[in-house]
Amino acid sequence: MVRQRLEFMERKERLAVYPGSFDPVTNGHVDIIERSLKFIDRLIVSVTHHPTKKPFFSFKERMEMLREIFKGRDEIIVEYFDGLLVDYLKKRGVYLVIRGLRAVSDFDYEFQMVLTNRKLLPQIETIFLTPREEYLYLSSSAVKEIARLNGPVEKFVPEVVAKKLKEKFFSNL
Ligand code: ADP
Repeated sequence: MVRQRLEFMERKERLAVYPGSFDPVTNGHVDIIERSLKFIDRLIVSVTHHPTKKPFFSFKERMEMLREIFKGRDEIIVEYFDGLLVDYLKKRGVYLVIRGLRAVSDFDYEFQMVLTNRKLLPQIETIFLTPREEYLYLSSSAVKEIARLNGPVEKFVPEVVAKKLKEKFFSNL
């Protein structure tokens, strides 16, 4: 009993980082976040800048949406970083990365990232998770396009995001 208790107290918290643009966060991202929490204790969702994507929502807006969605969930921390993922991981002292893998299209880029990051920081491990089938082809860009054309975006994103997209596209018409 005492031994079990000691083991419990000594057990380190399993922490991981889920980096991404989240521009904006979709139900696909949410699916990956919830899945990862089945085997880690706390997840840091880290909003960052993608080198080739022009951001639609500011860092602040993207973080606000994520925080609103996961309000009251202490196991989900929302942050941002600018710069290299490896530098951020070192600073945070976390070496486990979560990424989502959708159709084949993600594979090349993700594979390249894992190998490059491993060269820079060998102790990193990346876990790829696949979302529910209905989210396999869902992307933030598709969501923005649907919103721009005034489509039913609430099918693909949490309510707070749908609202924010509508505001952004149609508030000054
Ligand atoms: P990035 O610009 O870093 O690719 P994204 O926000 O587009 O940022 O994606 C962050 C991570 O979430 C990536 O690993 C991506 O493959 C994954 N992801 C994005 N959309 C989905 C989705 N619909 N289902 C599962 N994973 C997804």
